[in-house]
Amino acid sequence: MGGAEPSVPEAATRAWIGLGANLGDREAALRAAVRAIAALPGAQVLRTSTLYRSAPVDAGGPDYLNAVAEIATTLEPHALLAALQTIEQGAGRERPYRNAPRTLDLDILLYGEQRIATPTLTVPHPRMDERAFVLLPLAELVPARVPPEALHAVASQAIERCQGSGWVAG
Ligand code: ATP
Ligand code: CA
Ligand code: CA
Repeated sequence: MGGAEPSVPEAATRAWIGLGANLGDREAALRAAVRAIAALPGAQVLRTSTLYRSAPVDAGGPDYLNAVAEIATTLEPHALLAALQTIEQGAGRERPYRNAPRTLDLDILLYGEQRIATPTLTVPHPRMDERAFVLLPLAELVPARVPPEALHAVASQAIERCQGSGWVAG
């Protein structure tokens, strides 16, 4: 699902979703999540990054697999968040405590150029600049939104790029 920048239907907004999992069959969970997002009425998956493996930050548990999906959507931001949370629930997501291990985490990183600050939704995602596991896959898709200084700031974080973008198709 890599390749040149795809065009977006006129009424749709381009958005970037951060995907993460550190329980169970993590790659299968991320693949199923991409398929579930693609199946949402009002969302189309344009491209996905490669997979990254990283140790949990501020928490124990197994390593994470992370990726970013670029979508075109006609869903408003809060409707998109609700749809993503439904997909998380379907994957068995539980929230016993902050930063707990999870079967699936779907965060809205960017929604077009919009800045959103409501009690339930903040976009751009407020912690994305601290996270190599967000910035590296995002930079694959939209390097213009990830300045070199931002990458430099997370350069010490332990993270490994797994493989090509074929994980979605497999
Ligand atoms: P973090 O936000 O630091 O990555 P997390 O993903 O573990 O932590 P969750 O428990 O998944 O946190 O989500 C907590 C709440 O964050 C959600 O109920 C949602 O309302 C809110 N939230 C705010 N902004 C966003 C966003 N951009 N994407 C997803 N959820 C968001
Ligand atoms: Ca998150
Ligand atoms: Ca989340």
